[in-house]
Amino acid sequence: MTGAPQPSVSDGSEQTVDFSIIRERGQHEVFCGLTSIIWLHRKIQDAFFLVVGSRTCAHLMQSAAGVMIFAEPRFGTALIEERDLAGLADANEELDRVVARLLERRPDIRMLFLVGSCPSEVIKLDLAKAASRLSQQYMPQVRVLNYTGSGIETTFTQGEDTCLAALVPELPRETEADPASLLVVGSLADIVEDQFTRLFAEMGIHEVRYLPARRSDQLPAVGPNTRYILAQPFLNETARALEGLGATRLPAPFPLGVEGTTGWLRAAADAFGVDAGLFDRVTTPGIERAQRGLSHITEELKGKRIFLFPDSQLEIPLARFLHREAGMELVEVGTPYLHRQHLAEELAMLPKDTCLSEGQHLDKQLDRCREAHPDVVVCGLGLANPLEAEGMTTKWSIELVFTPIQGYDQAADLAELFARPLMRRAKLRV
Ligand code: SF4
Repeated sequence: MTGAPQPSVSDGSEQTVDFSIIRERGQHEVFCGLTSIIWLHRKIQDAFFLVVGSRTCAHLMQSAAGVMIFAEPRFGTALIEERDLAGLADANEELDRVVARLLERRPDIRMLFLVGSCPSEVIKLDLAKAASRLSQQYMPQVRVLNYTGSGIETTFTQGEDTCLAALVPELPRETEADPASLLVVGSLADIVEDQFTRLFAEMGIHEVRYLPARRSDQLPAVGPNTRYILAQPFLNETARALEGLGATRLPAPFPLGVEGTTGWLRAAADAFGVDAGLFDRVTTPGIERAQRGLSHITEELKGKRIFLFPDSQLEIPLARFLHREAGMELVEVGTPYLHRQHLAEELAMLPKDTCLSEGQHLDKQLDRCREAHPDVVVCGLGLANPLEAEGMTTKWSIELVFTPIQGYDQAADLAELFARPLMRRAKLRV
């Protein structure tokens, strides 16, 4: 989807970053927040995501997810028809009917998200009110929440942020007797979550919870004894909401590559008083495995020039990994929003002459990209095909959100995601 001009960025941070940053506002090319349903519905296994939107929204969901033939999908669209847009029908009554039908047919649903879209915003449908009305009707069997995935307000990973921020008020509160706990915030593939849980347990950190939890009856308790660590860099609203409940953020890089994973684990270990020797014993096997895996792939990447368009907000941690562990040259690192506080550890590891850009003016950025003619371009689906047609090698940024890339055992897979298109291009040339 091509969106409207981007809002200006304010993260409330006092920290300064001594990079020269290109700040642009204009046409941008990025999917809306509805797209995040594709990975969120796999993560929260008893939730259903009901998009309150138009046929365009339904088509986006269907093409982004592919058609599910064997599984009953856990997302759908309550269609806003022209009659609703013209104010000729009571959209709330229709929504209630759709929800009643859905919950009758799917008794396995425990949590229902009403997901706002551009059309629901245009007709000013109050989904917060609808969620509270429906919750009263269906609790305790089904909890009904709402958040926005509209392209007017969100880019694709921000959909996860608004979803998790909507979950925070529902989290149980810690009691005074509860021990200090670690909360990992941001969707991770189950396999990655299990690896991290194992590593934390080996360090003696047993009170580890995840947001989102896999099931709605496993929501983690939060309070002043909660130390939370972000696993994804796009969760500003969620972080703010957790801090509102007294939780404290552990500053850390993001767990991409060996360095990022070690820094991330160390931040948690330090907060829980893990002895340095024990930390090294627990992490060394993973570090060695990751370095062995990376050594086979980074030859393909060394010295190659990469240009990252602003899309997923993963760009800065990715750039840090690709530069420091795979030897790539950074031509331009774009990000839709730059949260200086959450990214402070990442920015400190980037070369000081990195060309960073925040926001987007699509035409100007395309001009810079064409002029630089990098070896690899990381961008959204909408840009990839035209750029490939111009002879550039591209990587879809959305793949980086769908694929398990965090942690030691995924470091080589992460590098391979960038090496593969280069190898394919080289074969085509031959
Ligand atoms: Fe398009 Fe808006 Fe629907 Fe997203 S929410 S698919 S941008 S109409």
